[in-house]
Amino acid sequence: MSYVDEVIERVVEKNPSQPEFHQAVREVLNSLRPVVEANEEKFRKDALLDRIVNPERQIIFRVPWVDDKGQVQVNTGYRVQFNSAIGPYKGGLRLHPSVNLGIIKFLGFEQVFKNSLTGLPIGGGKGGSDFDPKGKSDREVMAFCQSFITELFKYIGADTDVPAGDIGTGAREIGYMYGQYKRLTGLYEGVLTGKGLSYGGSLARKEATGYGLLYITEEMLKCHGDSLKGKTVIVSGAGNVATYAIEKAFQLGGKPVTCSDSTGWVYDPDGIDLAALKEIKEVKRARLTEYKNYRPKAEYHEGRGVWSVKADVALPCATQNELNLDDAKMLVKNGVKVVAEGANMPTTQEATDYLQENGILFLPGKAANAGGVATSALEMSQNSERLSWTFEEVDAKLKGIMVNLYHNIDRAAEKYGLKDNFVAGANIAGFEKVVDAMNAQGIV
Ligand code: NDP
Repeated sequence: MSYVDEVIERVVEKNPSQPEFHQAVREVLNSLRPVVEANEEKFRKDALLDRIVNPERQIIFRVPWVDDKGQVQVNTGYRVQFNSAIGPYKGGLRLHPSVNLGIIKFLGFEQVFKNSLTGLPIGGGKGGSDFDPKGKSDREVMAFCQSFITELFKYIGADTDVPAGDIGTGAREIGYMYGQYKRLTGLYEGVLTGKGLSYGGSLARKEATGYGLLYITEEMLKCHGDSLKGKTVIVSGAGNVATYAIEKAFQLGGKPVTCSDSTGWVYDPDGIDLAALKEIKEVKRARLTEYKNYRPKAEYHEGRGVWSVKADVALPCATQNELNLDDAKMLVKNGVKVVAEGANMPTTQEATDYLQENGILFLPGKAANAGGVATSALEMSQNSERLSWTFEEVDAKLKGIMVNLYHNIDRAAEKYGLKDNFVAGANIAGFEKVVDAMNAQGIV
């Protein structure tokens, strides 16, 4: 049996009931076959893949807090410090009822390669909790965040592990966590990114993931003799990534016509009303059902259905496994040319295979959404320097990083005879740098 197959088998055996983690490992290791097979014996002897798929450290803890009725609630907190070969652990904190160890491990594993692709010195980690901020009062969210950090602060720090936002963790949650960290440690340091501008945050961090997604998509189109100008774009999600993907798509001359949340989706043939979307989601924290109050001619549908709308470019920006094989078939039938993942692993393996087999230009999340973590690393640099850069400076650096990233994954794919297979290109390019650093540092 090949070393890749052996390791996949061990991961499934050793980590039962973690299907998302299995999925992420399979996807990465399968596309690394050409690299591993060229050095099979050395990889096996050094147990390199075994070390890559085993997190350096996993922290699981109790998070007790008191709700507004005086009732004590107990959630579970996680931080998986996956790989620190190229820098301090870096990756977001997800607050969502679906969070469990397998989900955090899949996200942490992906993060290792994504962070490597940014070209910046950051290792991979991820964390979060099964706490649901939706429908909670500000005081309840604060109580949870303070309790969460009261345990987590022991394991994080500006030079060891720097968490950030993710689903359910926005500026409000990061603020409460930062305040509690400072109170416990007395340190005013860049231990979290995604901070508010008044206390060490970076301009353009909020926009970075969505903007970065569009910068890399535009670069890929440019290299294929095309551009976003005049293209119809379908987007899922209505959170941080989706909102700023929609904003940049408009700026580049595209027309985004959909968005969605976990209850339903909007189709606005005239183009999404960005101001309305921001007011509903960022100010009111409300549901998309409200969108029709702003745009009576738009359609609102319950459930899912974004991928049924005819378009040129599809940008899944909500959550994992939200685009399945049937959706992929619909996209191909409707003439979509590009799928670029704003979310982490939003496309199932079967759907990814189908899209690639049918000539769709497919950009995987670990490359396409790396603008968020890259700008988080820029926030760390500004914190270390005790300086703040302008929006234009950060945005220009972000664009440069995404353009370089595209050429890096394109070259890696081509080197192994896999032109335009950006899944393989991203995995190979991300992996080679991490492995090089691991080899240099010995068996640790
Ligand atoms: P937000 O919480 O801001 O938004 C998430 C959006 O997705 C919301 O519209 C939410 O709807 C929807 N959603 C979440 N879970 C589900 C679900 N199970 N079914 C259907 N819809 C769902 O998160 P972000 O925009 O920050 O993150 C979106 C994705 O992008 C995630 O995969 C995240 O890991 C990834 N990502 C985020 C980065 C960032 O900088 N924020 C960086 C890189 C990747 P509702 O409000 O109804 O729950």
